[in-house]
Amino acid sequence: MKNLIKNFGIVFLVLLSMAAIWSFSSSDNKEPEVVGFNRLVEEVNNNTVKSIDVEGNIIFATLNNEDETVLKVQKEYGQTFLEVIEGYGVPKEKIEAIPELKVKDQSGFAFWLGALAPYLFPIILIGGLIFMMTRQVQGVNKSAMGFGQSAAKQNKTDEKNKKTFKDVAGALEAKEELEEIVDFLRNPKKFSDMGAKIPKGVLLMGPPGTGKTLLAKAVAGEADVPFFHISGSEFVEMFVGVGASRVRDLFNKAKKTAPAIIFIDEIDAVGRKRGAGLGGSHDEREQTLNQILVEMDGFEPNLGVIVIAATNRPDVLDSALLRPGRFDRRVVIEKPDMKDREEILNVHAKDKPLAKDVDLKNLAERTPGFTGADLENLLNEAAIFAVREGKKEVSEEHVLESIEKVLLGPQKKSRIMTEKDKEMTAYHEAGHAVVGHFLKNCDPVRKVSIIGRGMAGGYTLSMPEADVRYRTIAMFKDDMAMALGGYVAEKMIYGDDHLSTGPSSDLKTATQSAKAMVLRYGMSDKLGPRNYGENEEMIFLAQEIHEKKNYSEKTAELIDDEINGLIEEASRRAKEVLTKEKDKMNALVAKLLKTETVEQEEFNKIMNEG
Ligand code: ADP
Ligand code: MG
Ligand code: ZN
Repeated sequence: MKNLIKNFGIVFLVLLSMAAIWSFSSSDNKEPEVVGFNRLVEEVNNNTVKSIDVEGNIIFATLNNEDETVLKVQKEYGQTFLEVIEGYGVPKEKIEAIPELKVKDQSGFAFWLGALAPYLFPIILIGGLIFMMTRQVQGVNKSAMGFGQSAAKQNKTDEKNKKTFKDVAGALEAKEELEEIVDFLRNPKKFSDMGAKIPKGVLLMGPPGTGKTLLAKAVAGEADVPFFHISGSEFVEMFVGVGASRVRDLFNKAKKTAPAIIFIDEIDAVGRKRGAGLGGSHDEREQTLNQILVEMDGFEPNLGVIVIAATNRPDVLDSALLRPGRFDRRVVIEKPDMKDREEILNVHAKDKPLAKDVDLKNLAERTPGFTGADLENLLNEAAIFAVREGKKEVSEEHVLESIEKVLLGPQKKSRIMTEKDKEMTAYHEAGHAVVGHFLKNCDPVRKVSIIGRGMAGGYTLSMPEADVRYRTIAMFKDDMAMALGGYVAEKMIYGDDHLSTGPSSDLKTATQSAKAMVLRYGMSDKLGPRNYGENEEMIFLAQEIHEKKNYSEKTAELIDDEINGLIEEASRRAKEVLTKEKDKMNALVAKLLKTETVEQEEFNKIMNEG
């Protein structure tokens, strides 16, 4: 409707400007005087006509008086000027006496156009409007009709974006597993001849950014089959009942082009446990999920259609999805280890000019916990830094800066802090760093800074030396003490009355660790090795309520006590360290106030010497 109004507006404006041009172009000569033919005959008889211009059926006669009056006379169609004027009984010599007699030939196109334009113009205008209106109505219709169809994107011919296993670094086990799928798709007959059933579904599970989408694309690229890509959230859109029909359409399309891959990204959006929720949108989701199950059961196993789905929340998936005959193959993709990280860095460094001092192996060592997507982002940020500095190559300095940017957000050098705030930040960060240094289960401190980053006023960067698989109680406890180090330092130096709002996120971190220890990891003696609160999700009024209580009120009290106990213990230990090492903390603060940032080497020196 809005479009229609807009179009009308445009037509109106065009008409207006045409009219304006018209009137401008004709207003530069004198207004002719419109008269009847009798007057013209009179003037010709009086020899007062200087020139006559005949344009079609209009005659312009200029008189030879002072102000050269122009007369405009209309003549009939079908007769020439001479015929008409002779018909009025004007003698021949009088006509020949007119000094100038021009007849513009207006036959042919121009003539007809001139004659028809007044009638044609409105017809064209109205026709155009009707055309525009119908087209718009059709457009609305079309999108409503296409609603039940899946918006799946098929990209087989897209050679430029084609991915292969070469584009996926590391993830060896996952690739091996998927290699088999590629084989199924390439020669399904080989397997059916042997009486083997080809799997229908493969579920890729792993944290965000570990390359699940990338791997699915690579499978399609390797097998060279059509690839239908749809995201779970795209199923659930606007109209009830659409999700299910989209699923049907998607499977039909794939079956027609078999062998083919259907890739359902983020399947947890539709594949959550059924019956867990309250409220209307759930029925829609359930219907969609049911339709997926029906379709997967419906097609012949050796048709050559394989459904690949990806999720980072396998725990919330409906068990019906995981049953044999559906997504019975499961491929777990983990965060890359050091070797894999180096390979991923190599893949993404290919098109970037790196300076000699950039050592990707070293970079891989410095980035434990980074996913493939993080690493890609890291090199991209480094390249952007290099461009901003007008350099031709990406140097180590750019790469190191971007590690911190990816971890902690952009630096805020321009933020102006008062001396008081600066000192407070310095004590806060020194508190973290000193506790982290002297408790032996904390990761080594790499950098301390009082330059703001992201939300934080300053930061202490600590990172493990190698990849850590399991975390122990001792590690949890030391890390909690380190997290509270900033808070404790502020309290020691400024007293209870001057605590700042700075440490709020530290308190949250510490509380979450304590909670996880007690509820999930069985690390509390009093509560024992039990899981408290099933990690089941419910969606109620569009809000996710995470933990469901599966324990009594009495236990809840005990849990609270345990969490408080752990936090108190952590804060006591932090205080012990900071009291004992107060000189070193002061030395670090002095250094921070001078240079704002202290790197690992310098930091260790201060910690060892004071
Ligand atoms: P996910 O689907 O698991 O969230 P993606 O497949 O979307 O992650 O990965 C995001 C990006 O990260 C990819 O486009 C790719 O550039 C990069 N990436 C992730 N894992 C790898 C890997 N193993 N090798 C190369 N690049 C990777
Ligand atoms: Mg993805
Ligand atoms: Zn802090």
